[in-house]
Amino acid sequence: MFENIGEKLSAMISIPTVSGKENKNNYQIKEYKEYLRTAFSTFFESAEIIPVGEALLMKLKGSSMGGRPILFTGHMDVVPVSDSSVWKYPPFSGIIVDGRVWGRGTQDMKGPQCALLSAFDELIQGGWKPNRDIWIYLSCDEEIGGDTTIQAAAILKKKGIQFETVFDEGGTICEDFMGLIKGKAAMFGIAEKGSLEYRFTALSEGGHSANPPSNSSIIRLADFMHEVEYSSIFKQELSAGNRDMLRSMADYSSGEMHKKLMQAANEQNNFKVLYEICGEAKTLLGATIAFTMIEGGTSFNVMPKKAVLTANVRVPSTESDTAITEKLNKIASKYNLNCEMVGGRNAVPESDRNSIGYLNMRESVNEIYPGLPIIPFVLGGGTDSRHFQELTDNVLRFSPMYAAPEQGRGVHADNESADIQAVADAAACYYSLLKKY
Ligand SMILES: [Zn+2]
Repeated sequence: MFENIGEKLSAMISIPTVSGKENKNNYQIKEYKEYLRTAFSTFFESAEIIPVGEALLMKLKGSSMGGRPILFTGHMDVVPVSDSSVWKYPPFSGIIVDGRVWGRGTQDMKGPQCALLSAFDELIQGGWKPNRDIWIYLSCDEEIGGDTTIQAAAILKKKGIQFETVFDEGGTICEDFMGLIKGKAAMFGIAEKGSLEYRFTALSEGGHSANPPSNSSIIRLADFMHEVEYSSIFKQELSAGNRDMLRSMADYSSGEMHKKLMQAANEQNNFKVLYEICGEAKTLLGATIAFTMIEGGTSFNVMPKKAVLTANVRVPSTESDTAITEKLNKIASKYNLNCEMVGGRNAVPESDRNSIGYLNMRESVNEIYPGLPIIPFVLGGGTDSRHFQELTDNVLRFSPMYAAPEQGRGVHADNESADIQAVADAAACYYSLLKKY
């Protein structure tokens, strides 16, 4: 099974699908879709296809004996390459070297997509018929916000569909996750943090730099940043999902690490042990803020009348935009800054670890990767599945594909590549999962 999967992925990588304004002329999404149709022809011939812009919403009709439908969501677009000269091989070559396919999108997420479509193709060729409707959505603009996905979700909503499970990307099979678990583990994403965008504006009189005022707009922004950065203003709390993560990790650990993980999972107030064992404890415990852009002034010797600062806040399910805005506003007013929330969304609720979709995927991972730890976790970044949140109680953000340490956390990094055996294993895992439906 899945003999030509490396060649197929290689061809998928060699068709650039970088989304965004900067790539209008080389956005080969049509060619990409055309290739998918030929490479996975059995699947595409069996599916009902509803085009949504350049995205594909597809349905495999099931016998409806099995219950509520399920949805697999993913994306065909990839992020740009900032400097191709640092790549070992040209990023859109899809070249195969030493059993790996190299290029932009091999991990995020043409590799998992190739695995999923291969599994569908193989099963349908073997006469498989799903026991319920299975929907597949392939977005064309996930990396730039996923506007098309809002339309796709609206189509499904209009049909009154409620999915048993939505399967999306997010977690992978990676190594030494956050330094908390040794070796490989399958990270099942059960929720994602929200993302809020803030703008802080400082106004002042301006004037010549020879007579600098003590509270110029730039100084006030700097003082504000300093205070926010070096005082803990956000609530520190471990969500149920994060506690589950630590407990599951403890199950697969021994000795001192087991003890500390259990202690960390049960800490209520000071989170001392968690800080001791995890360099990213702050991210697990609450909202984080990152100042991302700053602008002000036009000349070396002129005091700016206006300076503007932006920030991105990643907010967990234990806090909301209202509380965050209130806290930032309070500090901003101390420095006479105007604080506005200009965009974003709150966190999504954590999915049930005992849902049918979660248990089915767990069984398939156990089957294909015997003994591999399976750990629930909350993603820091956003995925397309948030647009389908209204249509299901259960979203599982996980691609059953191994990502080596140099790949694991850098899906948008240079020198993206995928091991062909890992893609084939992922296909086998999807194959096993789909057979349950
Ligand atoms: Zn992605």
